[in-house]
Amino acid sequence: MEATRSASSTKPPPLLNRKIPIVTRSVKGKFRNFKTAVMVIAYAVYFLLPWLPWNRSSGASQAVLFDLESRRFFILNLVAYPQDIFWLAMVLFIAAALLFFTTGLIGRAWCGYFCFQTLWTDLFIMIEHLIQGERPARLKLMKQPWNAEKVLKVGGSHALMIIISFWTAVTFACYFAYAPEFVHNLFTGHAAEAGYITVVILTVTTYIAAGLAREQICTLACPYARFQGVMYEATTLAVAYDSKRGEGVAGRIAPVKGRRTREERQAAGHGDCIDCGFCVQVCPTGIDIREGLQYQCISCGLCIDACNNIMDSVGFPRGLIRYDSEQNIASPVPHKPRVDWKRSKVLGYAAALLVATMILFYSIGTRQGTDANVQQVRQPLFVTLSDGSVRNRYQINIVNKTEQEQRYELRVQGIPANALDIGHLQEIRVRAGKSLSINAKVSLASEMARGTKEFSFVIIPMGEEGDPIVVKAPFNSSR
Ligand code: SF4
Ligand code: SF4
Repeated sequence: MEATRSASSTKPPPLLNRKIPIVTRSVKGKFRNFKTAVMVIAYAVYFLLPWLPWNRSSGASQAVLFDLESRRFFILNLVAYPQDIFWLAMVLFIAAALLFFTTGLIGRAWCGYFCFQTLWTDLFIMIEHLIQGERPARLKLMKQPWNAEKVLKVGGSHALMIIISFWTAVTFACYFAYAPEFVHNLFTGHAAEAGYITVVILTVTTYIAAGLAREQICTLACPYARFQGVMYEATTLAVAYDSKRGEGVAGRIAPVKGRRTREERQAAGHGDCIDCGFCVQVCPTGIDIREGLQYQCISCGLCIDACNNIMDSVGFPRGLIRYDSEQNIASPVPHKPRVDWKRSKVLGYAAALLVATMILFYSIGTRQGTDANVQQVRQPLFVTLSDGSVRNRYQINIVNKTEQEQRYELRVQGIPANALDIGHLQEIRVRAGKSLSINAKVSLASEMARGTKEFSFVIIPMGEEGDPIVVKAPFNSSR
């Protein structure tokens, strides 16, 4: 009797995935090549960027540096300040909109190719493959008792993972400190305590996440896996198994005698799936895509490569597992899979993405070289002087966002110029990338004070950088 299996499973998913360690088989194909290309580019950018020198007149000569000490964030020629928090908000919004947009179009492409967890796990799996061998050799090694060979191979793999985790952590810290100096200080014991703590925490978490927990992070810890479903529609592309083609009416079957050719299989009601299990063996999350779309699937496409290779070897058409939509796969005659972007949800995400990107670029492009804000001193709110005039006090904060020292002139608008008193401060000078707080007093004769509720401070850059900044301020003469 022929052994067949159905594509559907009625078993509820286990609460805890007990599949650690998943021993994956390596695979060749266009999705594997794409993943490797993304990996090489992502690692090159991540590991080399802190070492890219950059010429600037103030601040460290490092292309990308989030300098917490001076509260300046250098990104090539752009210098961002804490006051530019709006940009961070926009960047986060754009990242979220991009994630939703791509998920709406082509499923979890982020997870399968670009997510840090995927990139590092992929690298660590490659290390195991390199040191311990292909899947059968690794399975054999796993089952054999501990001996010198096992200690050497397993220990060597994990030692290399720990070294990579360590350098990942050091590189991360290099984005927050001048890289050459930080690395020197780190190894000579002179780095700041926070630097050591960061490196230790990140080394441990990288090793645990990518070296030990692996797919458990995607399936149990990542919230995105759980809510991605709301972004899917029946026309969203996702990695899918064509069960009609794979199972036929009599189910899948190995290519045994009399069931080798397509014609023989179709005559007996069997589909194209030869039940080789390669699609499961290459899966980094250990699932069987033939059981339908599952939240554990990170859309890496490796099962597509595996199945295409098998289809080639048995002479069947490719695409039994493919990127396709639920709707197309379920249709009586599926057409060629295509990206269906003409949907309100996808267009909505695209519009949000476009608008947010334009706002961000506009904001960066029109940023002034100076930022200023005014706080009224409220203790006391006002003082009545012996001649009856009323005095309010203010704290004016000027931030020089340029790369040169700037001189400023401070004036008032809406009240007489002589109402302003900034004490002995002769000249307002602010160094590049620094800020200055000025204590100002504004005194008005009693009649004018009663009629004045508001006026403006005008901060005028004396160099060529920027237009005058006008900041409104309240004036109080009664409670
Ligand atoms: S089922 Fe296929 S696409 Fe999904 S995670 Fe596994 S190998 Fe990747
Ligand atoms: S790789 Fe293809 S043929 Fe082999 S079990 Fe998976 S779906 Fe079936």
